[in-house]
Amino acid sequence: MSEIVRSIYAHVPFCHTICGYCDFYSEVLDRNAVTPLVDALIAELDAYAVATSIAADTIFVGGGTPTTLPAVELRRLLTRLAQCANSEASLEFTSEANPATVTPEIADALVAGGVNRVSIGAQSFDKSELRVLERIHHPPQVAQTVATCRAAGVDAISLDLIFGVPGQSMNAWLSNLQAALALEPDHLSCYGLTYERGTPLFDQLATGVVTRVESELEAEMFEATIDTLAAHGFDQYEISNFAKPGRECRHNLRYWRNEPYLGIGPSAAGFVDGVRYKNVPDTAAYVRASRLGQSARISEERLDAAARSRETMMLELRLREGVARGRFADRFGADPAALFRDAINRHLSLGLLEVDAGAVRLTRAGQLVADSVIADFI
Ligand code: SF4
Repeated sequence: MSEIVRSIYAHVPFCHTICGYCDFYSEVLDRNAVTPLVDALIAELDAYAVATSIAADTIFVGGGTPTTLPAVELRRLLTRLAQCANSEASLEFTSEANPATVTPEIADALVAGGVNRVSIGAQSFDKSELRVLERIHHPPQVAQTVATCRAAGVDAISLDLIFGVPGQSMNAWLSNLQAALALEPDHLSCYGLTYERGTPLFDQLATGVVTRVESELEAEMFEATIDTLAAHGFDQYEISNFAKPGRECRHNLRYWRNEPYLGIGPSAAGFVDGVRYKNVPDTAAYVRASRLGQSARISEERLDAAARSRETMMLELRLREGVARGRFADRFGADPAALFRDAINRHLSLGLLEVDAGAVRLTRAGQLVADSVIADFI
């Protein structure tokens, strides 16, 4: 490897229970599997550290629920990750956390391990919505988790919310937003509920146990989110992500700008030296590979410049700043407005894209159908 790695993602697959809508790779916590997993994560990182130069300015520990790990193992993992930081840059070190898993001891372990940003899976402040989502926490535990993290010294708090939960009205969604704003987060991620094939929620939809929120209402919820959060000083810097000035998630910006990052852990993906790879989505197999000194990768793909430019177009269109024409031309030697003229013109005429001297970006109408616009650049 020759590239300097500036971002690391570590995947901790354990959760206390598996939520009905979840299609991330996650497993019910097995306490006997914790130490072998942390050993394997550290061994994978050690192997990369020998082979390449790592000077991270963003680290993100996700899952799963990293805060299901016992404090001592969580701190062991975080401490090793923090050793990969670039000492000359400011480090954004994020851990995901779920309400009901963050005790003062866990929060202290996060901060002692170097974490300065916690992304909390609140999802909803409504008891019945949490039940539909099969989340294990109670609404007041979100505020408790925020308070516990702040008391431990966490600098930045992000909250994840889901709209379009079966049975949710516009008023109920606006109440969720207000409850989140009352906690004064630095950052909010607001996603519409998706029904992923293979999840229990998908089956419940197929068998009529739950009913999907009407698409018009879901679009109105999305637009109300943008307006409500803007009125409270949050900039929509990505379709689903909102931040107070200077509080954008630098790690996720690196994904959306299609820049390199290292991924470690079961199911983790990475993009280093032009190669996209994915690790085995199986904790036991991941640990076994580590013990045998083998790679945990199950796929690798070297992307040529054309593929990288297409990917960059698709990812950067998610950003409100859009695809910066100058930066794109510096990377790929061509103006995106010329390279993708046909696809751009189709959506320009429909009012879904706009192009100016600086960027190609989605309009507000384009954001409502972002997936189908972006798919046109494949
Ligand atoms: S807590 Fe998150 S990762 Fe774990 S099962 Fe629920 S949605 Fe999936």
